[in-house]
Amino acid sequence: MLIVKKFGGTSVGDKERIFNVARRCIEDYKKGHDVVVVLSAMGKMTDELIAKAKDINPNPSKREMDMLFTTGEQTSVALMAMAMDALGVPAVSLNAFQVAMHSTNKYGNARLKRIDTERIHHELDQRKIVLVTGFQGIDHYNNYTTLGRGGSDTTAVALAAALRADACEIYTDVEGVYTADPRKVKDARKLKEITYNEMLELATLGAGVLHNRSVELAKKHGVQLVVRSSLNTAEGTTVKEATSMEEKVVSGVAGDKNAARIAVMGLHDEPGIAFKLFNLLARNNINVDIILQSVGRDGTKDISFTVTEDSADETVEVIKNNFPRAKYKEIDVETKVAKVSVVGAGMLAHPGVAANMFQALYQHDINIRMISTSEIRVTVLVNEDDMEKAMNAVHEAYGLQEA
Ligand code: ASP
Ligand code: MG
Repeated sequence: MLIVKKFGGTSVGDKERIFNVARRCIEDYKKGHDVVVVLSAMGKMTDELIAKAKDINPNPSKREMDMLFTTGEQTSVALMAMAMDALGVPAVSLNAFQVAMHSTNKYGNARLKRIDTERIHHELDQRKIVLVTGFQGIDHYNNYTTLGRGGSDTTAVALAAALRADACEIYTDVEGVYTADPRKVKDARKLKEITYNEMLELATLGAGVLHNRSVELAKKHGVQLVVRSSLNTAEGTTVKEATSMEEKVVSGVAGDKNAARIAVMGLHDEPGIAFKLFNLLARNNINVDIILQSVGRDGTKDISFTVTEDSADETVEVIKNNFPRAKYKEIDVETKVAKVSVVGAGMLAHPGVAANMFQALYQHDINIRMISTSEIRVTVLVNEDDMEKAMNAVHEAYGLQEA
């Protein structure tokens, strides 16, 4: 069997944990399996590198940031190879250049395009454990790129797909995917299985367990993922195309405080105005989420939408500087808002899911500011202070605490 295992930063945070990971990989190796291991930078190293860079230059170039970032993952794989060697097992560390993990050239947010597997197969044939740096790629001119924060998951899935691995295991500091963040919802329960589509929604909504592009890629290539803890042997959560075990309509609840609501008021009520506004934002790479347009009156209307809180200032700047001033009255920004979402593949077949959510929020006296839905998701915008209360109320309303 060929197994790809990925360990996150906390899992390799210190000497003891590095040896713990080394032993877990060696266990599989000794069963005769081929083992490829993807590692993240140790602990908070990536954040520390950002701080170091900003201390030298508050506005560092993206290319040099990526050059700097790659040292984090490179440290992990080299130390891991040394640990395995100390335990008497041959291992070799490879970075994105040595493997040849080709990516686009968008520094800080590159996408993997193609992975050469020859070198890895060669090392596996020598019965070595192969340690690969997560999060990084190389562009057409061999510049290092990175895949976006949390991108090591995507490296692991891309490798599993390229190597046609028999298993892809994502080890982290939680035991799997939960019905909600256990730090926010006390009764949250670990899921045995979840579909790619549900996981994709949850990952995008800030559930934090998996990089959303890794889920996208896993779905595209049919790579079944297991998310589990590096610190114990508890069974994790399997992410796959369809689930059989759990027939719940809703699988999980997510909350995300990184949201801001922008309202553009007194817009001229004429054809093309929404196009011009959102096209402007798209051209500036601003991701818009929930959109709401009011009924027009007296020849004007209001359009409100949400963006991530970090991009709120930039969004307002872009509108103020580029949108014709004569076409609207004012812009209003509110950052003390949060998104609460319920996700479930079962929604496709069951009506009334949204109404249940609204009822739970009503019973807890939580005001809904905006609403958006997809086939398998309902999201509401609430006041930031209400987020946890809302998550708990909704979690309970759908009976997610029960197995
Ligand atoms: N070290 C990178 C980060 O902190 C990538 C990762 O951990 O997946 O974002
Ligand atoms: Mg992660």
